[in-house]
Amino acid sequence: MIQRPEKLFFLFKSVNTLNGVGPRIGDLLKKFLGNRLIDLLFHLPVNIIDRTYTSDINSAESGKLVTLELNIRSHIRPKNKKLPYRVKCYDSTGEIDLVFFKSNSIYLKKILPENKKCIVNGKIEIYNNFKQITHPERIGTIDQIDEIKTIEPVYPLSAGLSQKILIKSIKQITNNIPDLPEWHRKEIINEYSWISWKNSIKKSHNPNNTLELSHKHFIKERLAFDELFANQIALSIFRKKIKDSKSQSIVCKKKYIKKALNNINFKLTNSQNIAIKEIIEDLSSHSPMIRLLQGDVGSGKTIVSLISILYVIEAGYQTAIMVPTSLLANQHYKNFLKITKNLNINISLLTRLTNETEKKKINNDLENGSIDLLVGTHSVFQKNITFKNLAFIVIDEQHRFGVKQRMALSSKSINLNTLFMTATPIPRTLSLTSYGNMEVSKINEKPKDKAKIKTFAIPLSKLNNIYERIKNTIDNDLKTFWICPLIDDSEILDVSNVNKRYRELSQLLPNNKIGLIHGKISQDERDSTMKKFLDGEINLLVGTTVIEVGIDIPDANLIIIEHAERFGLAQLHQLRGRVGRGNKESNCILLYNQPLTQNAHKRIDVMRNTDDGFEIAEKDLLLRGPGEILGIRQSGVPDFKFVNFEEHSHLIELAYKESKIIEEIDPLLKSKRGKNIRNLLHVFEKEDAIRFIISG
Ligand code: ADP
Ligand code: MG
Repeated sequence: MIQRPEKLFFLFKSVNTLNGVGPRIGDLLKKFLGNRLIDLLFHLPVNIIDRTYTSDINSAESGKLVTLELNIRSHIRPKNKKLPYRVKCYDSTGEIDLVFFKSNSIYLKKILPENKKCIVNGKIEIYNNFKQITHPERIGTIDQIDEIKTIEPVYPLSAGLSQKILIKSIKQITNNIPDLPEWHRKEIINEYSWISWKNSIKKSHNPNNTLELSHKHFIKERLAFDELFANQIALSIFRKKIKDSKSQSIVCKKKYIKKALNNINFKLTNSQNIAIKEIIEDLSSHSPMIRLLQGDVGSGKTIVSLISILYVIEAGYQTAIMVPTSLLANQHYKNFLKITKNLNINISLLTRLTNETEKKKINNDLENGSIDLLVGTHSVFQKNITFKNLAFIVIDEQHRFGVKQRMALSSKSINLNTLFMTATPIPRTLSLTSYGNMEVSKINEKPKDKAKIKTFAIPLSKLNNIYERIKNTIDNDLKTFWICPLIDDSEILDVSNVNKRYRELSQLLPNNKIGLIHGKISQDERDSTMKKFLDGEINLLVGTTVIEVGIDIPDANLIIIEHAERFGLAQLHQLRGRVGRGNKESNCILLYNQPLTQNAHKRIDVMRNTDDGFEIAEKDLLLRGPGEILGIRQSGVPDFKFVNFEEHSHLIELAYKESKIIEEIDPLLKSKRGKNIRNLLHVFEKEDAIRFIISG
């Protein structure tokens, strides 16, 4: 572990060290905000309550929150319990009542003593032509005016935590923030008129007006920039580590490629050929490749990766491809076997369903070098596997996989070439924050003979119409996917939902072959169902999103997505991409539950109006934010505290440029400023990056 600088110890103390935080509050804070003081410090207010408006009674405006200096005349107890308790007050300009429902008169007499002056803050109302304040928010003695006449931050709250506790706790922290020397260049600080980190944090907890709450305010900009800069520096350290490791130049005669191309029944598109050329150029260079292959669903990324893999195998090295699901691993595996049938290469499949004996054998064969290509799922791949000479790894549907995991992989082979493949066109702002500057190959044309997909949105209440339609058409060699939603992203399924739909459809179409696929069904069974669907023995496949990624059934031409409103755009696009992969005219039906939220409505409209993956991704970014798109928790995209992707996009590019400067002049962060930057890395807990520069 890298030791944190002493100056920062305070920020990482337990929340239990705060005054007024006992075990109960401590547990709540830990649960909702985090264990350490810095977790509270990074919890910023989202609003303010302004109690600074003062007035006399006569000119106090109705509806406004006002601080008044009042003389207490008398307490009037209600005759009837349903009526409120009133405290009559006056000043030189007029009279006002303080109104309390269900209140404790002893307590009220104590804090509002008759014939004394008090400071009261609350909202002015007019009742029967008379001014009153119902349940004042603050009451105090004359000398407490400065405590009452304040602007209070309003924090997002979770159950059991009060504003009071948060304000009190965070004040203790902001009063003790360490002074850290500036880590940014003076020119940048001046250009944006930023103030120091410490003062920015302090001010962001004590906003003077609502303007200061906006992401665009310079205080917020500075904090966001700190976070982005820390992220870019860490990424550049990781990248440099990868790039600096010299790799072997991979060269061969491309005989395997020629043979494989003869085994497929289509011609590569221009884009595919260009991508392959770019990848092979990288592979034959002396520095390890980190490249992103981006291409919409159905654009044919798989064959590009296989061609690249064959290139590396022919040169005498081992290769691997990692995919998100066992189902997809299976499909790739079989597909690859077919395409390489007359090549003398050894391909193995490793998923969580591979049995122990087989696993041992695979491990052995990887170690002795007899396996040329390993097809596996992300999860199994990260376990203890040793290759003899792994030189190339392909990561399919990479958005669940970040640079950090990539670094973990490099322990398997120091000069590993990596190809990430994604169907989600990642806007540059996002790819910069998750990878730094990565080379990108784009497949921007789809195979020409692909048919168009028409998309319809239909309310679930018209389910019967769909049933009718399927009944009438299913015999005409229609191949249909029926997708039911998941409870959540994992493979925990709403199985009852799928099962119910499956039973209903089975009754409806007694003579048709219907298959069922979900995460709780064994791999063997899923495989055999998939195969039957592929071969046409089954023509309706009911399932959950396990079929989402990558699965290829060229003649499927109808997909029905139930509860489409629950899916994100990227996922809907992925799902829709399951059809229209052959040359048959295809349809996608989005079944939605009414009423739709405005956002869901927009998403469904986007789906109806375009099938351009890039446009969909951009809309998704606007509608849902980056975290949702990339599934932040599994992805390499950091879960930013201060960054707002829309408002701070200009800072993303700037942070990247600034990190480049550091990479040039002080990559090991040894200069005075470099040391300050290390503090920043510690503040954002990028200790891993520091470890890398220290270990050289
Ligand atoms: P994705 O980019 O979504 O991973 P795939 O690689 O699975 O797409 O390819 C989708 C389908 O298109 C597959 O059936 C594949 O064999 C086919 N395909 C790939 N390239 C071409 C091409 N150049 N011409 C025709 N079909 C192609
Ligand atoms: Mg794919």
